[in-house]
Amino acid sequence: MDRIKKEFEEKLEKVKDFEALKQLKASYLGKKGRVTSLFKNLKNLSPDEKKEFGKKINEVKDYFEKLLDKKSKELFERAKQESIESEAIDITLPARNVNLGGLHPITKTIMEIEDIFRSMGFGVEVGPEIELDLFNFELLNIPKEHPARDMQDTFYINDNVVLRTHTSPTQIRVMKRQKPPVMFISPGRVYRRDSDITHSPMFHQVEGLLVDKDIRFSDLKGVLSEFLRLFFGDVPVRFRPSYFPFTEPSAEVDIGCIICGGKGCRVCSNTGYLEVLGCGMVHPNVLKNGGYNPDKYTGFAFGLGVERFAMLKYGIDNIKLFFENDLRFLEQFSFAKGRSL
Ligand SMILES: [Zn+2]
Repeated sequence: MDRIKKEFEEKLEKVKDFEALKQLKASYLGKKGRVTSLFKNLKNLSPDEKKEFGKKINEVKDYFEKLLDKKSKELFERAKQESIESEAIDITLPARNVNLGGLHPITKTIMEIEDIFRSMGFGVEVGPEIELDLFNFELLNIPKEHPARDMQDTFYINDNVVLRTHTSPTQIRVMKRQKPPVMFISPGRVYRRDSDITHSPMFHQVEGLLVDKDIRFSDLKGVLSEFLRLFFGDVPVRFRPSYFPFTEPSAEVDIGCIICGGKGCRVCSNTGYLEVLGCGMVHPNVLKNGGYNPDKYTGFAFGLGVERFAMLKYGIDNIKLFFENDLRFLEQFSFAKGRSL
């Protein structure tokens, strides 16, 4: 009995965790444990011996249980102490930097463009990216087989459905549901089969439309010149005659090269000017297709490429940078002015 006690005490001394404690308990007090098996020997003894020996075994059993209980409390206390120590917070350490996300330069540019036009009274409309050929081309005065369709390499879904090649179909959609006057811009993604350092098969445009009585080309010039001044700062602006099927007359708008200041460089092909948007007076056919009377109403429309605006404003020379999700590129824009909500 004394040997078992000594052995048990020595083993208990070495116990370091609850699992070992559990095993020790099982090996002495479990069904096949050392102490439990002692009871089996009782049957070979005389009644008096049985009584005396049985009492001793029970004493040992109680003693072991007390020791086990004490050890269990010690282990629990120690674990608690260790967890408090390991989770201790050193309040004298400097705080970790909180990494705030930034807006994508394209998002930022669209927001900036929206802010400028909203300040002039324009609303903002959106249209679907999967568009009917009817809205993308035909109602914009570009019938099937029209040569102007070659200007836009189109992704066709079927004969009548396309990925919109420009944001212009929003013009028709809004005119069809809203009586004049209308005055809105419409930003969004557009798709063309085109890919190099300045073209991406998916890119962003902002469309604009203003229709009312007595809208003249001078209104177009005034609004767009003011917009360009607010976006790029004080740069020269010039209007060049051009051709679009949905406007007549049509113009392309250039700003003085903001890279070389007009002296001539690689970006402006030594012309001193950069083309930034297309515009014109809405073609009478388009007004008619939108359900407006062209004898009563006139208007102007314009479209611009958001990537081009962002590239010029931030001095970015490869359009792919916008879509590669490289944080080293994107993080450079997180400091810039966000939109006030
Ligand atoms: Zn230049």
